[in-house]
Order: sequence, then C-alpha cells, then structure tokens
Amino acid sequence: TQATTPVESDPKIIRRKLNGYVGFANLPKQWHRKSIRRGFNFNLMVVGEKGLGKSTLMNTLFNKDLYDLNTHESSMKFDVDITEDSLTPSIKIDTLNTEIEENNVKLNLSIIDCVGFGSSIDLTNSWKPIVDEIDSRFDSYLEAETKINRSSSIQDNRIHALLYFIEPTGHCLKPLDINFMKQIHEKVNLIPIVAKSDILTETEIQDFKSKILQDLNNQNIKIFNPVSYENDDEETKMMNHDIISKIPYAIVGSNNLIKLNDGRLVRGRSYPWGIIEIDNEQHCDFIKLRQLLIRNFMEELKDLTSKKLYENYRTNKLTKMGILQDDSVFKEFDPILKQEEEKKLHEAKLANLENQMKQIFQQKVSREEKKLQETEADLFSKHKEMRDKLLKQIKMLEEKKKELESNSKLVDQQIHQPQQTQAMQSPQIQQS
Ligand code: GDP
Repeated sequence: TQATTPVESDPKIIRRKLNGYVGFANLPKQWHRKSIRRGFNFNLMVVGEKGLGKSTLMNTLFNKDLYDLNTHESSMKFDVDITEDSLTPSIKIDTLNTEIEENNVKLNLSIIDCVGFGSSIDLTNSWKPIVDEIDSRFDSYLEAETKINRSSSIQDNRIHALLYFIEPTGHCLKPLDINFMKQIHEKVNLIPIVAKSDILTETEIQDFKSKILQDLNNQNIKIFNPVSYENDDEETKMMNHDIISKIPYAIVGSNNLIKLNDGRLVRGRSYPWGIIEIDNEQHCDFIKLRQLLIRNFMEELKDLTSKKLYENYRTNKLTKMGILQDDSVFKEFDPILKQEEEKKLHEAKLANLENQMKQIFQQKVSREEKKLQETEADLFSKHKEMRDKLLKQIKMLEEKKKELESNSKLVDQQIHQPQQTQAMQSPQIQQS
C-alpha cells in the first residue's frame, strides 16, 4: 500500500512514501559521527615569492602560530645573490603537518610550502619542482588505488588547493606568475590572491584585480570555480557567487591584536594613517578567503580534486600506459568504454598481482636455496669434523696396537729367554 508519485524530470525515478519510520533518515547523523571520529584532512599548497606574507597568512587563517615568524627568515625578497646556485631553480618543498581542533572537530592540516620559488635568476623552469611534487602525490594515490591488497582507506596526500601569492605591483601579472599558473591550473584548484594588499589603495586594488582576471582569461588559465547545484537555494547561490566573485582576493595578514578607540581588540596592521582590520570585509578580502578555504568549500575543493583533477591525471597517465578509460566522472557515461576500461584495469591489476606473486615466489625460492646451502655447508663441516675425529682415533688405535704388539713381543722374549738359558745350562750340569 505504497503511494507512488513519478517525478516529472526523470520518469525512471519513482518516489515512494513510506508507511512508517525505517531509519535511513538517520544516515546524515551516522555520517556526521563517523566524520567526527575520523577527523578531516586538508592539504594546502602555498606558492609565492619570498617575503609576500605566506607564513603570516597561514598563521592568520588558522589563528595559530603554525610558523614562528620571529625565527622565520623572510622580509627581503630582493636579496638575490648571483651565485651558480641562484641560476638554477632550487626550490625546497617544505611540508608542515599539524592537527588542529575546534569544538571537538579535528583537522589534520598539511601546508606545503615551496621555499625558494622565484628567487633564482633563470626563472624558466621554476614551476618544475612544484609540478613534480603535485604529480608524485597523484602517483602515490594511483599506486595505492591499484594495489590489490590495499588497506580500507588510502592516505590522501593530494594537493586540495593551491594559494598563489601575487606581488602587489598594481600593473599586471609577471611572466613568472603566468608561466607557473599555466603549468599547474589543470592539476590543482588554483586560488590566486593579491598579497600584502594594504600597500594599494581601494581603487588600485579593483584595477589590479581586473587586470589579473583579464590576463588569466587571455592565457586560458582556469581558477577554482565550484560546481553549482540546481537544488541549491537562492541564499546559498548568492553567497557562493559573492565568495567567488571576489577572486583574486586582496589579502592582508596578521595575528597582532590592536585595541581600537571603542575598546574592541581586533587582528590587524597599524599605520600612521589608520588601522587595517583583518576580519573586516570593508578592509580586505581575508574573510572571503577563509570562507572559501575553510568554512564553505573545503569539502568541495577535496571533491573536485578527487573527481576532476585527479581523474584527469589518472586518465592521461593510464592512456600513456596504454590503458583506455573515460575522461572523468563529468563526461557522459559510455557503458562499452567503461566495460573496456574496467577490463583493462582488471588486466593491469592481474598483471600487477602476478608480478607480485612472482616476486614473492622468487624470494621464497632463494630463501629456501640459501637455507639448503647453509644446511649443506653445515653438514659438510660436521662430516669433515667426524671424519677427522675417526681418523685420529684410528691412528691412536693403530699406535696402541703397535705398542701392544711390541710389548707382547718383549714379554714373549722374556718368557723364552730363561728357557733357552736353562737349555743351554743343563748339559753342563749333566756333564758335571
Ligand atoms: P613569506 O616569506 O612569504 O613567508 O613572508 P612572511 O610571512 O615571513 O612575511 C614577510 C614580511 O612581510 C614580514 O615582515 C611580515 O610582517 C610582512 N607581512 C606579512 N603579511 C603582510 C601583509 O599583509 N601586509 C604587509 N604590509 N606586510 C605583511
């Protein structure tokens, strides 16, 4: 006795009303509990020239001294020394792993800093070590995914978002910016920001933002853009549009507390002409960046990384390896292609398994062989030892035998000698 109402948009889906409470309405609560227990993880890469305020912004974003700014050598970004090393890009990838907690919700945060970006004289390949890092993280994930005996959950070290710090020149993007963003925009969720925007006036910022957007557009560089869902309500749509439309965010970073005239304590930067408040939307776009990265779109960033960026990478990689599959989950579903892909993937997995088994078998055989060789050598040395012992005993016995024989000869002689003397003496006695 179930009432069925066909849904207009899709005739295959039939909505059914239940007669009583079954329990799956509890699913969101179950998911919530599970997520809280597991915690969340987020991998954020920060790229920008030295001194643009990367470490300061990380501390500001998570309201925690993740980086010790007193010991952090930063400030001057023009201190380029012309040594041989500075001609070749020497970028060091520094990962800071930290666990932060807010209202019992745990976030495992990984900040991947590309130290030395933009500081060499020849900047043509500055992007290379960073692209390699992004790729190698995708590779590790792919490897874990294709392992037959994989553990239930794969450690996700893929980069979920990349914050690119643009120098507040007010002109247009530099070749370094364009070169870099061109290389990575299809591999990560790219979020460009105008660093230290407090040195520009409000009009300069708006002007600079539109120049940046124009440059990005001309170069076909894609920046993060969340998927819009039809069932999002108007308020959500408006809020999302508001967050996205402010990119590239004009950022000011600082964890310093400043007392305002009205007594309020605010995070900000103080100047002779006034105070810039970090958490004030009238002063900078920090709040928007935090909304995007943490409050509203963290899951979306991870979802896009997994379903679009990683899928693209995976498809390209497997195609290069000769395994065909559909481009991404966003492409149209083709059952034949999908079947073909699954078959090829299955074959690749089987080949992988066979290889692994061969390796294990080889290892076992060589272990057994080694054991046998050791036992053989052991037996041989024991045999030699016993033979030597026996030979020694035989020799000893032979010597004893000889000794006994010579002793018995002597005894014989002694027994026979008096008889002979007797025999020799008796005629004399008879004669006398
Ligand atoms: P990093 O080398 O990119 O990590 O830069 P740091 O975070 O170490 O900052 C370098 C210098 O810039 C420090 O003296 C900061 O106090 C300063 N700084 C950081 N953020 C801002 C900002 O938004 N505006 C201004 N004016 N200075 C900043």
